[in-house]
Amino acid sequence: MNTTIGTTQLPRTPSPEYDLIAAIAADRFDVPIALVNIDDGEDVWVKAKIGLDLCSAPKDIAFCGHVLETAQPLIVEDLAADLRYHDHPLVLGDLHARFYAGVPLRNRHGVVFGTLCIVDRRPRTFGDRDLRGLMLLAEQVVERVELSELRHRERATTVIDQTTTDAFVTCDRHGRVTHWNAAAEALLGWPRDEALGRPITFIIPPAMRSAHSAGFDRLVASDSAQPMRVVEIPALRRDGTEVHVELTLGVHREGDDVTIVSILRDATARRLLEAEREASRMLTDAIVENMPAAIYAKDLTTDRYVFVNRAFEQLSGRGRQDIIGRSWGDVFPQADMEAYRRSTNAAMATSGPILLERTMTRPDGTVRQIEATKIRSVGPDGRMILLGFAQDVTEEREANQRLSYLAHHDPLTGLLNRTRFGEIVDECIAAGGTPAIICLDLDRFKIVNDLYGHAAGDEVLVEAAQRIVTASQSPVARLGGDEFAVLVADSGSAGRIARRTVDTLARPFGIRGHGVGIGASAGVAIHQASHGGDSDLVLRNADLALYRAKAEGRNQWCFFEPAMDHAARERRQVESDLRTALDRGEIHVEYQPLADAVTGTVISFEALARWDHPRLGRIPPSLFIPIAEESGIMPDLGRFVLEAAAAEAASWSPELKVAVNLSPAQMDEDDLVAQVGRILAKAALAPRRLEIEITEGMLIKDTARGIRLLTEFRALGVSVSMDDFGTGYSSLTYFRTFPFDKVKIDQSFIRDMDENPQSLAIVQAVIGLGRGLGMPVVAEGVETRDQLERLRAEGCDVVQGYHIGRPAVIGSFKNGVILDAVVGAAEA
Ligand code: C2E
Ligand code: CA
Ligand code: CA
Repeated sequence: MNTTIGTTQLPRTPSPEYDLIAAIAADRFDVPIALVNIDDGEDVWVKAKIGLDLCSAPKDIAFCGHVLETAQPLIVEDLAADLRYHDHPLVLGDLHARFYAGVPLRNRHGVVFGTLCIVDRRPRTFGDRDLRGLMLLAEQVVERVELSELRHRERATTVIDQTTTDAFVTCDRHGRVTHWNAAAEALLGWPRDEALGRPITFIIPPAMRSAHSAGFDRLVASDSAQPMRVVEIPALRRDGTEVHVELTLGVHREGDDVTIVSILRDATARRLLEAEREASRMLTDAIVENMPAAIYAKDLTTDRYVFVNRAFEQLSGRGRQDIIGRSWGDVFPQADMEAYRRSTNAAMATSGPILLERTMTRPDGTVRQIEATKIRSVGPDGRMILLGFAQDVTEEREANQRLSYLAHHDPLTGLLNRTRFGEIVDECIAAGGTPAIICLDLDRFKIVNDLYGHAAGDEVLVEAAQRIVTASQSPVARLGGDEFAVLVADSGSAGRIARRTVDTLARPFGIRGHGVGIGASAGVAIHQASHGGDSDLVLRNADLALYRAKAEGRNQWCFFEPAMDHAARERRQVESDLRTALDRGEIHVEYQPLADAVTGTVISFEALARWDHPRLGRIPPSLFIPIAEESGIMPDLGRFVLEAAAAEAASWSPELKVAVNLSPAQMDEDDLVAQVGRILAKAALAPRRLEIEITEGMLIKDTARGIRLLTEFRALGVSVSMDDFGTGYSSLTYFRTFPFDKVKIDQSFIRDMDENPQSLAIVQAVIGLGRGLGMPVVAEGVETRDQLERLRAEGCDVVQGYHIGRPAVIGSFKNGVILDAVVGAAEA
């Protein structure tokens, strides 16, 4: 066990050499007791003793405590006579001490660390010579202590020298190696024996030798004893390779002797580590710099940017030289300041990252939408920093907005689409409202589209959308095609709004400089809370009401009634029944005569389809023909009628013709004309006895194709009549492009010819047109004798109608009915 005493460190075991000194002291001064005491804090520790078996004693009891305290010798020639000590335990006790002389042990730094004392059992005189002698002995003790200390240190140094991984090399003033430890052998490859005595230059690379000797000389000449700072230099190894070492130089002088001490440490590992760190730092820098996310760091104490990467420069539209060292306010516009403050404060308030979205204005004024993460952090120097990662999400957000807009709107008109409209209506219902829906359908949109092309059609839709929005001041959707819907939150005003909307759409639309009347019909349905149901039900009801309004003619609107629902269901039923009606033989053909207006002679019969539904009874063609056209049954139905009519007419007297209606829905049949030719051939009916009745619909969609078909029919020998003239567009151009064999004035004009001068005017105009073109004119729907006479007077060529004969099975005519009608006409 070791104990530290002042600067002195020595083993606590008693040591014989000290005992020797104690013995010399006892002998020299002829005393029974001599001690070497070492200050041990509270106690004095008896290092060497003669005549006293004591290891340690409390400082205040031992006389030596006084010497240690005062650091001065203490001589008490007669302790019993000394007032300070006469009752001291050592005086009164077994020791019977009567004399004491003690001197301090003082090391070379002047520190007192113990005493040398002699004690006698009788009083004595102790002169100056005695005191000097005792002090000389004390110096001996000190020297011994220091010597043992030195030896101890030397042993420790040797251990260090042998075990350290640092190379220790010393040189004398001439640069000759005087010390070379094991680490030096390992580092430089030279064994100690070969290194000792050599000039140190053998480990200096040749290129550095001259610089080295100059430096060496300076070092020797300088009187500095401070170790030099560490330098890194290459050293030459025995095998000729160089090794980088960290060199620490020190100079030790003792008298004229100079020792240059060098400590060399292999720097390879450190250099490698540094290179690795540098590489890793460069990699990090490159990553951060080239990261697509914008990164920045701000010193929170100064509120200034300390770092931004390239993406941040691009995002902000500013170079880093304009950002680093500045605060946010120095760089970015004041307008964005508030949003910036808010997000920064939020980031400061929490330890976790905060996510935010805001705008960033570039110097050119463009505004980018950014998504940023901010986090409070600690920089490498311990300062608080704010780290931010930002991403430009402008395009993404815009695309999302566009997508969500597209998902909810009709791209052409910008109105809501069906899906979104339904959602809004449902929201309204869910909130306890009783909304009304107005369904609108443009009356003659299809014709515009067919006649003027899709671009014009689109213009009409856009214009119609604007008009509906203005008139309704409510959410408006385009449901598809030319159908629109309006949500009226306050159902009480639904009727008024429907009227207003229908009226606004009744005004002509400007198309290529023409004012074209298109018009619209509307159906209104109100959500019935008591009936439940959602937007779908209200929409369906409004649609049914629309259907009814359409049936009532143009520019009409009507409210939904439960009966409509019933009718609609019926219609769906009819549609599915119609598919099988032909096969089941539920359809047959009736014939209606056309007679010469002047002579009353029947010249032909028009074949008209009849459907006797097993449950619903007779279904009028005005109902089932459109259904057949829409559901793709028309080609089959048309062929059936033609076959029946051709077969029938073949049995008639040869001057009688048969007229068959041709639906536009039959046009798409590939070999329509050839098919008709085959049917005629099969029935053995001469083509000149067949009249095809077509309507404008046949020519509107694809005029060129329509004309081509008619021309082919003509080439086959079949004649072609223009049916229902006066309704629709009734363009006179048709007559220029194709020489019709007949034109049939629509029965609506004949019906109110008497009361309505316009109708009469049209009838007269068509008759005039026919005369001009050398084309017979047929008046349809002649129900009275008056009408017949009027038409005859106007110069109409042919008449058809109940007054002449109702459509009926052909058998009824063979019974002389025709004759009656003819006679009736002739009489008139
Ligand atoms: P449409 O071609 O104009 O046929 C004339 C219609 O007028 C027939 O109605 C006929 O019954 C009716 N009618 C004739 N005289 C009078 C009259 O004096 N007063 C009144 N109020 N009506 C009269 P229907 O048979 O109901 O046919 C309606 C429409 O159905 C026809 O109009 C025609 O467009 C279409 N249609 C009928 N059968 C066929 C067919 O086999 N093929 C095609 N494509 N269409 C057909
Ligand atoms: Ca007809
Ligand atoms: Ca007709």
